[in-house]
Amino acid sequence: MIVPLSKLGPEGATFEGEDPVEVLAWDPSPRDVVHAAGPMRWRVKAQLFGSELVCTGRADALFEGVCCRCGGSLSRRFGDEFAISRRVAEGDTEADLTSEIRETILLALPNHPVCSDDCPGPPVPKARVAGVAGERAGEGGADPWSALDALSGGTTHENKRPRTRKTQNNNNQ
Ligand SMILES: [Zn+2]
Repeated sequence: MIVPLSKLGPEGATFEGEDPVEVLAWDPSPRDVVHAAGPMRWRVKAQLFGSELVCTGRADALFEGVCCRCGGSLSRRFGDEFAISRRVAEGDTEADLTSEIRETILLALPNHPVCSDDCPGPPVPKARVAGVAGERAGEGGADPWSALDALSGGTTHENKRPRTRKTQNNNNQ
């Protein structure tokens, strides 16, 4: 993003545009969960105060990859607002903000990006959903002790639980 200083009136000027994805200089690695996939987009308000150029705005870029919460595909813009101040020399005709804007975007990229703020997370196994629903209703949920009884040939869980407790007491004494 290059600010043409000659086009800044006393009130400054606002610029909108984008730079190609290559400007982000993304160095791909097999360990990347996401990668830069779209142009660097920006909106900049630039104003000169004497020799001080003040630029505020917002920048983002499209990233694609794998959601760190649900494991699904991710295609989402990440970016942030920025404020840049820099001294310009007399005779300068433009100011290049590309590296600052690139840095804004890369710093805004989360360590664990998710596909959306509402990402529900990984799908819950159906058996577990049924179990939770049964517990909430107070009935209908499978009793894990009954399942164990069936496997061990009919010993009831009433007999098993105290035996466990007794063992623990003996250990404590
Ligand atoms: Zn997700």
